[in-house]
Amino acid sequence: MEMTSADVDASADVAVVGAGPAGLYAAYCAGFRGLSSVLVDALPEPGGQISALYPEKKIYDVAGHPAVRGRELIDNLVAQVAPFEPHYLLGRTAASLTSDLTSDLTSDALAPDAGAGWTIGLEGGGRVRAGAVVIAGGLGRSVPRTMPCLRPYEGRGVAYHVPRLDEHQDRDVVIVGGGDSAVDWALALAPVARSVTVVHRRSAFRAHEHSVKQMYAADIRVLADAQVTACRGAKRLEEVRVTIGEEESTLPAQALVAALGFITSLGPIAEWGLRVENRQIAVDRAMRTNLPRVYAVGDICTYEGRVPLVSVGFGEAAAAANHAAVELRPGSRLAPEHSTDRDTVPLS
Ligand SMILES: Cc1cc2nc3c(=O)[nH]c(=O)nc-3n(C[C@H](O)[C@H](O)[C@H](O)COP(=O)(O)OP(=O)(O)OC[C@H]3O[C@@H](n4cnc5c(N)ncnc54)[C@H](O)[C@@H]3O)c2cc1C
Repeated sequence: MEMTSADVDASADVAVVGAGPAGLYAAYCAGFRGLSSVLVDALPEPGGQISALYPEKKIYDVAGHPAVRGRELIDNLVAQVAPFEPHYLLGRTAASLTSDLTSDLTSDALAPDAGAGWTIGLEGGGRVRAGAVVIAGGLGRSVPRTMPCLRPYEGRGVAYHVPRLDEHQDRDVVIVGGGDSAVDWALALAPVARSVTVVHRRSAFRAHEHSVKQMYAADIRVLADAQVTACRGAKRLEEVRVTIGEEESTLPAQALVAALGFITSLGPIAEWGLRVENRQIAVDRAMRTNLPRVYAVGDICTYEGRVPLVSVGFGEAAAAANHAAVELRPGSRLAPEHSTDRDTVPLS
């Protein structure tokens, strides 16, 4: 069926599913090869795990950055790709992937110059068309673990991550959990919030030992062997009930951060006919999946010996985009020209 433009939210040479670090860099590398891109992400802002889970933390192992705050790295990736004007579809989940040329999607079924197009169906309606697809979906769909008493206050004081520390200025913040995220948020919020209380149901914390020591030394109230049993407040969260052993107490709380971990799954991508191994997409050295002109990069892909790091995802993004360029423009070279050969922002 021919799609009218009204059906299509965006069309581009390359559709990138996932606007985390690997997806953003894939869009940059595509742009450098003169290819247009559309970036689809289920989250409302770019940056993947970094924006969602640790925007304020410093990352020390990204090449060329002795230390870079998560938010700053993502801002820079967004700025780097901006000259190529990628089309962002944020807050949109890629639900389906179909080829409009053939229903037989084995690699041999499509010649490289067959002009095949891919259509990504978006959850809730809308479509994206592209000649090639780069899947940079990271952990896929991640749903925060929660407790029944927290649900009614989601978005009204209860949150599962901390996008901006300054939102919690002058608030009494309760953090629930005993892992790295819980302790790290507590340490980060201690100088900002009016008060910080960590509630953990066990006596020992799973978080890094050094961070736990810092937490006990900081101006943070730590309630171990304790559990949040109820949230209260008329319109927004005002206080939480906590059980500590046999005792019950009430804490003032205008914010509660539940750092209980996430349940992750490939989500709709699992249904796309891709070869999946251990909940990750199998790729070859060119980052090709088993579907023609569909690549996978970053934490969602797997091959023997893969290391799940931001810098590894960058290399994979560059490989995928350049291989896509050759497949979309047969006869072009695999190696891009050197960016240093261009005097200005490298627009083709
Ligand atoms: C607390 C913590 C600290 C870390 N510290 C470091 C560190 O110091 N150094 C380091 O190198 N790495 C670190 N990592 C790992 C690093 O964050 C990941 O390796 C990196 O984010 C992976 O990038 P990505 O682009 O592959 O995927 P992600 O960052 O996971 O982004 C994937 C994006 O795809 C989107 N998506 C998934 N499925 C769909 C769909 N169907 N439709 C639309 N969008 C979809 C998601 O919403 C997400 O935004 C850390 C991770 C955590 C949790």
